[in-house]
Amino acid sequence: MFLIYCPYCEEERAEEEFHASGEAHIVRPSDPEALSDEQWGDYVFFRKNPRGNHHELWQHTIGCRKFFYMTRDTATYEIKEIYKIGERPQVASAPPIPNKYDNPASVTADNKKAVNK
Ligand SMILES: [Zn+2]
Repeated sequence: MFLIYCPYCEEERAEEEFHASGEAHIVRPSDPEALSDEQWGDYVFFRKNPRGNHHELWQHTIGCRKFFYMTRDTATYEIKEIYKIGERPQVASAPPIPNKYDNPASVTADNKKAVNK
């Protein structure tokens, strides 16, 4: 059985009590009307898919029902940290791996290093 620590209940509970709700810290655009359809589509549908540390939003669905954040290594499934809504992560996330849909001009130097390793 896989155990996850709930920062509100302050105890480890079975994985089945939780629901992963996807990538964390996605900020809604302040002026959606100013975005192109492509930019809005990126905001609504596209998420990072890093190999390594990833910040995720989780909910203790069969418990206190509160949301919290988890930094998890997507390669090993190791939980690096858990923190409450409103707090900031202490562990940095891995850079996303660019794919064929990414604009090459938007790929940062860090991402290029990660891909070229
Ligand atoms: Zn809880």
